[in-house]
Amino acid sequence: MTQTPKDRDSAWRAKLSPLAYAVTRQAATEPPFSHAGFAPGAGTFACVCCGAPLFAADAKFESGCGWPAFSAPLPDAPVHEMRDTSHGMIRTEVRCAACAAHLGHVFDDGPGPTGLRYCINGVALDFKPDKG
Ligand SMILES: [Zn+2]
Repeated sequence: MTQTPKDRDSAWRAKLSPLAYAVTRQAATEPPFSHAGFAPGAGTFACVCCGAPLFAADAKFESGCGWPAFSAPLPDAPVHEMRDTSHGMIRTEVRCAACAAHLGHVFDDGPGPTGLRYCINGVALDFKPDKG
């Protein structure tokens, strides 16, 4: 049986929380400061939809903007950046290239060596602490 886009959509609905579904599959944005945060320590932030590793915990920084922020994705992360002109702004949208999940946006006002701030919805991420 061939999977239709509608089948895939209901699979995402079944797998994800309503907010995570709205963010990743419908490009919504979670309310700022709404996410409870992640466990501290080393680890990897993966796509909540498909599990692809996206960001390292040591690239995370406190931006004060109300969403998790990262200076750069993992070197081999399937992160796709595309121009987004919605809401009357010109921004760069960040998606998971593996499953097309909307993750957030990237801005060029970051404090780190890259000068970039990947502003990512917390519900789009699944934190996997390093073992050991
Ligand atoms: Zn994904």
